[in-house]
Amino acid sequence: MSDPQHVLVIGAGIVGVNVGLSLQKQGFAVTLADKGEPGRATSFGNAGGLAVSECAPISMPGTLKNVPGWLRDPNGPLTLRLSYLPKMLPWLLRFIAAGRRNRVEQITTELAAILHSAWDDYDPLIRDAKLQDAVFRDGAMAVYRSEQGRRGDDYYTDLRRRNGVRLTDLSRDEVYEREPDLAPGFVCGVLEEDWGRVLDPYKFVMGLYQLFLDRGGKFQTADIADFVYQAGRPRSAINRAGDNIGFDHVVMCCGAWSRHLAARLGSNVPLDTERGYNTTVPYNGVTLNHMVISPDDSIVLTPMEMGIRVGGAVELAGLDAAPDYSRASALFKKGQQVFPGLREDGGTQWMGFRPSMPDSKPVISASPRHDNVYFAFGHGHLGLTMGATTGRLLADLVAGRPASIDMTPYRINRF
Ligand SMILES: Cc1cc2nc3c(=O)[nH]c(=O)nc-3n(C[C@H](O)[C@H](O)[C@H](O)COP(=O)(O)OP(=O)(O)OC[C@H]3O[C@@H](n4cnc5c(N)ncnc54)[C@H](O)[C@@H]3O)c2cc1C
Repeated sequence: MSDPQHVLVIGAGIVGVNVGLSLQKQGFAVTLADKGEPGRATSFGNAGGLAVSECAPISMPGTLKNVPGWLRDPNGPLTLRLSYLPKMLPWLLRFIAAGRRNRVEQITTELAAILHSAWDDYDPLIRDAKLQDAVFRDGAMAVYRSEQGRRGDDYYTDLRRRNGVRLTDLSRDEVYEREPDLAPGFVCGVLEEDWGRVLDPYKFVMGLYQLFLDRGGKFQTADIADFVYQAGRPRSAINRAGDNIGFDHVVMCCGAWSRHLAARLGSNVPLDTERGYNTTVPYNGVTLNHMVISPDDSIVLTPMEMGIRVGGAVELAGLDAAPDYSRASALFKKGQQVFPGLREDGGTQWMGFRPSMPDSKPVISASPRHDNVYFAFGHGHLGLTMGATTGRLLADLVAGRPASIDMTPYRINRF
């Protein structure tokens, strides 16, 4: 029997780890390489939502109209560092174009095609990695202070319902039955029936990473800078931190840092980052039974193992600017308007780099340039949720197996 083909997966976040596991299942020998420790980048501190019903793109009809107001509000859901605007402009123009109604309808169907399989793909991994106690499938509740506010989301709700998402309208009493510690003044809600959450995103990715190692996977610390070509094909990765790494196939899963390496492999891609902040406070008597979303405040609250995490919002400032943790504090204050019992004492703040494509769709793609190069990045707000399905779809591409869905919407050269 011949040796299995060797796949190098660059980037050991939630996407890379899932890609590694799926490739192992297809019989490949897999090395995961990361410049840092596995699971320590964006996959470390996210909101932990298995947000399977979030199939609508971030850019929606009406988003553009709201942007000036958001930018004027220092505590609003969007901030933009002016010095970064010239670099970000091409991305922003594509983002705006993605918000046209006909594009939104199409993108929603394409995102739903991935999200519908999220639980089916995660369930066996959760079982095999013995993570059952670290994952809850208890839904998420959006809460509104006025009927008018809820009606403002009518298109968003209807769009998702038309794409198979189970959403249940809740009365005021039902909202408070589910979350008695909510601030007074909410009048109705919507239950996102199929959402789930992980108790700690870092422990979740590390549980899957351990399964990858247990199944014979290898890890190498490597800061990949470029590639060595033989006969016109990339055959090894140049490691700034040591020896080069040879491969039969290579998969790029570098999250928000993927653009440079994709270009080195011949694919220019409009990837940027939507930075996000949160604060996690220890439990201090406030009960949070499941994830709560307050669309009026643009925040999400998650009950986690270590406390309650309050976050959301987007900052457009690129990969290099220092974090502005006043964003996390502002979000937390909004959280206190939703759950007045929350206290900031003992809290920790975090910032992460969402890897974002302007059309909110990930890249899950073979290279148009090289037959041994693949890409899986750009999962934006949904990398945790889409991780396992991305792994399965990408491994099918590498193995040359027919994909379960049409893969053209996720190809790297769609722009
Ligand atoms: C505030 C916030 C809240 C979020 N909430 C949710 C949520 O509730 N649900 C959800 O589904 N998603 C959520 N997300 C999004 C999710 O966290 C990301 O989509 C996901 O973590 C991306 O995973 P990744 O593996 O692509 O990237 P990462 O986790 O960033 O991993 C990329 C890895 O590549 C490595 N790397 C980069 N360059 C190189 C190189 N040259 N050589 C070697 N290694 C390299 C990095 O070190 C890193 O480890 C949230 C994000 C933020 C910021």
